[in-house]
Amino acid sequence: MELSLYLCRISCQGASCITTFADFLCSKIAPALRHAIYEKTALDIAQDVKNKIPDFRGNISTLEYYMLKYLAEEEKFENFMYYLNAPGDFLNNYIKTKVETYCLDKNRRLETFLRDCLSRYYENIQSAVFASTTVVKDRKDRKDKISLWLDEFCRALGDVLNLPRSDLKGIEHQEITDVEFLNNAMAEALSPVIDDLRKEFEEARMSSFERQPHTIVAEQFAGCQELCPFCGAVCTNTMPNHDGDHRVVFHRPKVLGGRRWYKTDNLVIDICSSSVSSDCSFRIGEDKWIPYKKYRDAGHPYSTWNIPPDPSMQAYWKWFVSSFRTQLEQRYDGKFHGKGEIPASWQTVTKQNALAELEKW
Ligand SMILES: [Zn+2]
Ligand SMILES: [Zn+2]
Repeated sequence: MELSLYLCRISCQGASCITTFADFLCSKIAPALRHAIYEKTALDIAQDVKNKIPDFRGNISTLEYYMLKYLAEEEKFENFMYYLNAPGDFLNNYIKTKVETYCLDKNRRLETFLRDCLSRYYENIQSAVFASTTVVKDRKDRKDKISLWLDEFCRALGDVLNLPRSDLKGIEHQEITDVEFLNNAMAEALSPVIDDLRKEFEEARMSSFERQPHTIVAEQFAGCQELCPFCGAVCTNTMPNHDGDHRVVFHRPKVLGGRRWYKTDNLVIDICSSSVSSDCSFRIGEDKWIPYKKYRDAGHPYSTWNIPPDPSMQAYWKWFVSSFRTQLEQRYDGKFHGKGEIPASWQTVTKQNALAELEKW
């Protein structure tokens, strides 16, 4: 391009000079346009799934409900383990799967999103071309019309494309007097750029995004990631690094954090929020026992949690523990007997009961 510009400077005249100018400008526009479309489309998709997918319509509690519902419907023990042991990863992966399915299912929404964005940006570029030409064509007072034209053009597209005016210095001294020819020349030079992008979008993959749409969605649900040191439930505060204590609305049976009664094979079905009003103690380190009633004395992380006494347990976990008792016994190398006997009332909780109760929250 540098060589052709050099040749242009000495040899080209009129129309061919305009073509060279337009080709050069479009070679700068093409990568900037492609980048801008993926960036904007990622935001468009994130916004759209927030409106269209019920899981994402509310706050983190709503999403939590849909994740638990999904787990119950799939009824796969390994999925539950993933959710319980790596809640942050599970959340991100859940969002990723939902967003990608939405974009890539038979409706081929990804292509539509990209094409719509391309159409809007194409119109913006065309308008910028016409606007710049209109401003410049009658400026008989100016000799550096092309420089002026580029100023106008970059300014008009400033909100849409990252097209630094300084990158176009090499062509600003072109001796183009008939600025009006630029409208046609630009239309011709842009056409293959747009065609190439359209073709690319037909086979677009999520991996084409630098900033992934699901990451943008996940950022909106990023809250505190701290886990209850007893049961592993995630702090429900919506602010990461929030002030004050961590807390959750509902704690869970401690077996979900892998706990057994000391020196027995009895799994612990009690929840932390009951334990804190009991006379039991828990062990930290090798042999240090702390009464549950003074759990904060155990130091970090216990001291950063506010766990008020509350015996209520969600039906969901009663259903889960009784439905997956064998798998839980194997996983945590213990038994639901002795102090870990599952109450008969838990065994009558159905999945429907459990989900119906969750929905109320
Ligand atoms: Zn807990
Ligand atoms: Zn917290």
